[in-house]
Amino acid sequence: MSDIDGRAVAKALREEVGEAAEKLRSEGVTPTLAVVVPTDDEGTAWYVRSIAKTASKVGIDCRIEHLKDPGRGEIVAKLQELSADPAVHGIICQTPLPEGVTLSEVGGYIDPYKDIDGANPHSLGRLAAGLRTWAPATSAAVLELLKREDIELRGTRAVVVGRSTVVGKPAALLLLAESATVTVCHSRTKDLAAVCREADVLVAAVGRAGMIGADFVKRGATVIDVGTNPTEDGGLVGDVDYDAVSPKAGRLTPVPGGVGPVTTMLLLRHTTEAAALTQTHA
Ligand code: NDP
Repeated sequence: MSDIDGRAVAKALREEVGEAAEKLRSEGVTPTLAVVVPTDDEGTAWYVRSIAKTASKVGIDCRIEHLKDPGRGEIVAKLQELSADPAVHGIICQTPLPEGVTLSEVGGYIDPYKDIDGANPHSLGRLAAGLRTWAPATSAAVLELLKREDIELRGTRAVVVGRSTVVGKPAALLLLAESATVTVCHSRTKDLAAVCREADVLVAAVGRAGMIGADFVKRGATVIDVGTNPTEDGGLVGDVDYDAVSPKAGRLTPVPGGVGPVTTMLLLRHTTEAAALTQTHA
């Protein structure tokens, strides 16, 4: 088995995004990403700081909009304000959101032309219809890794474990668009291991540390581990039992160092694409 090196893919993307940002700046456009942070959650704060740091390295301005104990109305108002601001090209809204507020609902207030993390249900609809849009960055990272590693998708059996709006569903739609034969599994799927064993490409997006064991994996399959589960000692593990699965899988993404770094770079690539669109429309 060989690892799929997400950090190497992210490095290649960094070069490309840096060049795109530099071109925009030479044309007088400062690509700008706004990150709405409606929580004091420490993990979220850490993630947002890491996005801002990477953004500054590639020449993208990152505006962090922290909202203290917001209600739904304040979040919606902020998303509307940023959507109307011509200096902002990309908008993302972090989670967790306040009790009773969902990203699918408030995401509807992000201008679709700035919806670089596919939070507006309009974007998911466009994805389903095969129209140009930005898929949520994590699901796009799954495809980016598979494509950059030249993994054949057409005609293959792909199984996605997880059906969330932010990861599982869009990842399934992206795989389908590449002509894979896609099965989506969830907590009610019967005999999950047997379904997963049919996969040439297995995507785990569950949020349960190590639940995908060797008995879930066909020998030689490609396994993409989206899961990020914090450990007691402050580390991070995936949904895949790495030690058990790695001797059996053909290719496997590690956690950390797999999907995560590519996701961040795709948020930034999408921001440059959104900024370039404003040029086309100018
Ligand atoms: P959700 O909790 O929204 O969805 C989890 C999905 O897993 C649901 O569809 C659920 O099924 C399914 N599920 C739960 N338990 C089981 C089980 N025992 N067997 C089969 N399916 C099960 O999570 P997300 O989609 O938001 O995230 C998934 C993982 O990806 C998490 O670890 C998250 O941290 C990580 N993540 C990583 C990112 C990255 O950049 N690397 C970014 C975003 C997320 P049901 O619908 O039936 O409840």
